[in-house]
Amino acid sequence: MITIDGSEGEGGGQVLRYAAALALLTGEPFTIANVRGGRAKPGLMRQHVTALEAAAAVGSAECSGLTVGSRELTFRPGSVVPGEYHFAIGTAGSTALVVQTVLVPLMLADAPSRLVIEGGTHAASAPPFEFLSQTLLPVLERMGPRLSVTLDRHGFYPRGGGRIMLDITPAPLTAIACMERGTFKAGKVEALVAGIPFDIADRELKAARKVLADWPDDAFAPVQLSAELGPGNALLITAECEHVTEVMSAFGQIGIPAERLAKTAAKRMAGYLGSGAFAGPYLQDQLLLPFAMAGQGAFTTVKPSEHSRTAAALIARFTGRQFSFGEDAEGRWLASLG
Ligand code: AMP
Repeated sequence: MITIDGSEGEGGGQVLRYAAALALLTGEPFTIANVRGGRAKPGLMRQHVTALEAAAAVGSAECSGLTVGSRELTFRPGSVVPGEYHFAIGTAGSTALVVQTVLVPLMLADAPSRLVIEGGTHAASAPPFEFLSQTLLPVLERMGPRLSVTLDRHGFYPRGGGRIMLDITPAPLTAIACMERGTFKAGKVEALVAGIPFDIADRELKAARKVLADWPDDAFAPVQLSAELGPGNALLITAECEHVTEVMSAFGQIGIPAERLAKTAAKRMAGYLGSGAFAGPYLQDQLLLPFAMAGQGAFTTVKPSEHSRTAAALIARFTGRQFSFGEDAEGRWLASLG
């Protein structure tokens, strides 16, 4: 039984999701105290309960302490059963983060799976649908499995109600090296608005354009979605390179000017493009688990995030596999196993 202090390292929901995924992959049970102890509102939120319920369902696990607000839980995995699953978060909690919890175990299962997940698809502090479909899954497909995801309906904060469907055809994971992103092919900035004034999209695009000044005019486009999906707003900044497509995002928030949100996301993209690295600040921590299960591999990235350091420490505890992070002379980082 592995004992985890949920306030250590990044101290958020990722600790739970990674621990559950690692438990399914290794068969090792765990207990966690101080759940989300590093967050202003500690304990399980609705989306974490659903992510763990998903892990328990997929992995025939016994789990105690699985209620909203709980600060302690124990998870005993059984065997992973591929198949058709439907998970509904019931809030705008992230559908992509439920995927994060069960994806690698199902990629290594002995038959295909189909997941239908309802909840948030475009909300703060989580990967938007486009990051899943364009950034993460294409890299994972290079390791062997076939993955296809569709967006049936957008789900914004606070309403949720989004829906995605993911098909997973498993395969043994091949180790890959992702060193170069290759040439820059195209940039795109989309401002999504649903049921809110359209000029918010214009303001975001203008602010992003100031930062990404060398991107052509037609790279910037407002996207009006049906008002019944709203209120909702997301800015998606996509850089398509030869070997990887990165998506940086921002989500409209009451009390924060649209310009500020857009500028922050655009600067993040400019920083990533200037770094020459393969993986940006979010892809980084999400590649660690599949790379660890492949047993080998390396990728270049930007400065390691606290999420990555925390994920790497958990991987080492469950599997004994150690990632090292090293910086080269040009300021690019290399994450490698071994
Ligand atoms: P936590 O904060 O512990 O709930 O973990 C959040 C997870 O979502 C991490 O794996 C992050 O890399 C990922 N994430 C957060 N924001 C974004 C974003 N804008 N784009 C892609 N992934 C994100």
